[in-house]
Amino acid sequence: MARDSFDIVVVGAGPAGAVAAYAATRRGLSVALVDRRTFPRDKACGDGIGPGAVQVLRRLGLGSVFERHPAVTELTVFAPDGGRLDSVIPPIDGRPMCGHIITRYDFDNYLVRAAVSAGAADLTGVRYLGMTREPELRRVELRGSDGTTFDVDARLVIGADGAYSAVRRTLTGDKARRSRHQSIALRAYASSDNFLPGGRIGQRLVLDYSSDLLPGYGWLFPLDDGRVNVGVGMLVDELKRRDDDLKSVLAAFVERARARGIDLGELHDQRAHHLPHVGGMPRLTYPRAALLGDAASMINPVSGEGIAYAVTAAADFIDALPGDVGDSGRLNAALTRFERDFRRRYRAHFLSCRLYLEMMRHQRPATSILRALQHDPRVLHAGVNLLFGFGSIHPRTVLRILTSSRRG
Ligand SMILES: Cc1cc2nc3c(=O)[nH]c(=O)nc-3n(C[C@H](O)[C@H](O)[C@H](O)COP(=O)(O)OP(=O)(O)OC[C@H]3O[C@@H](n4cnc5c(N)ncnc54)[C@H](O)[C@@H]3O)c2cc1C
Repeated sequence: MARDSFDIVVVGAGPAGAVAAYAATRRGLSVALVDRRTFPRDKACGDGIGPGAVQVLRRLGLGSVFERHPAVTELTVFAPDGGRLDSVIPPIDGRPMCGHIITRYDFDNYLVRAAVSAGAADLTGVRYLGMTREPELRRVELRGSDGTTFDVDARLVIGADGAYSAVRRTLTGDKARRSRHQSIALRAYASSDNFLPGGRIGQRLVLDYSSDLLPGYGWLFPLDDGRVNVGVGMLVDELKRRDDDLKSVLAAFVERARARGIDLGELHDQRAHHLPHVGGMPRLTYPRAALLGDAASMINPVSGEGIAYAVTAAADFIDALPGDVGDSGRLNAALTRFERDFRRRYRAHFLSCRLYLEMMRHQRPATSILRALQHDPRVLHAGVNLLFGFGSIHPRTVLRILTSSRRG
């Protein structure tokens, strides 16, 4: 039997892979979208679809995913010293910075369906096992849900298979899982009518930077169906150092939220997952292959947000490709350009995130930052742009934080 052959085989149908498959299919390329799971499926996440992701998806014509979900435009932040900030999320450069909370069960399913409707071959329920290099292509070994293995040929392979990426292991040869530059986060759901539109708290993000969580944080993100996404995230090394486990960290966070008067029902559907940060970003492009999303460690170490980078990188990557991905010279030039442009575009942002994370490790600077967020709208503006946008910290902002802490 003839082996199937595609311009692009995308491994992983989370946001990075599904958006890459959708955009490539729309460019007229033949695409297979592979995922070991069938959709819809759950994925451990805060379910926060931030402004960067909203913008890209709207531009790609995928904005209808947001239609039935109200935008979240306000936030409450609890500081390590018990202080509290309630604010509207300020716009940046005239752009609203609001996001939407949508379960990954629904969000990812929408994106996969969009890619398949656009013409991508649906290889969900199929696991990537490995690949070999052949002249002018890669041969990808897959295993179907019935256990049979088969190969497909790809002129280009995109590894978008998440934090535990097997494609990354094939491409980099790196088998070790390092704890440096990684967080681990645990999310659950709880019922609460406080967060319903018009409820006592309403559609508002709640972020808790109490000292027992630093440099991580706890979150309460409101769905619009009477449930709240509840979670905590921590650096893996920090959790090891404390010899603590995330379940008890989450339980303590939930108890504190209840003590603050927030109604939360029993936790259910607890699920944990690693978050590889940008500090551990590997090379993104290889001969006839690339890594995107969590597979390429595209996660903001401060906020834990990864979807905005995943979908932005996927859209930019497909835009950068030549019309004929079989043409080695033009493909190689495009891959090199993508890698260079991606790193240039985010260098200051990623450096700022790492600097901010270092400051958040210690209670005093963390308190100063959160106090400055409360008292200086320009610091709030910069903080929001760093956490939810692609902004960077200007030395002036650091000065403002220091001034604000002296005043405090
Ligand atoms: C608890 C938690 C909370 C988070 N909260 C947020 C948030 O609120 N907002 C935000 O922006 N980000 C958040 N993140 C990060 C976000 O979840 C990721 O950045 C995002 O899912 C990355 O998308 P992706 O497409 O790269 O990978 P994934 O969404 O992980 O998708 C990878 C896909 O690859 C498939 N796969 C894996 N191995 C194979 C294989 N061998 N063969 C075939 N398929 C395979 C998987 O089944 C999966 O569907 C959170 C992460 C965690 C853990």
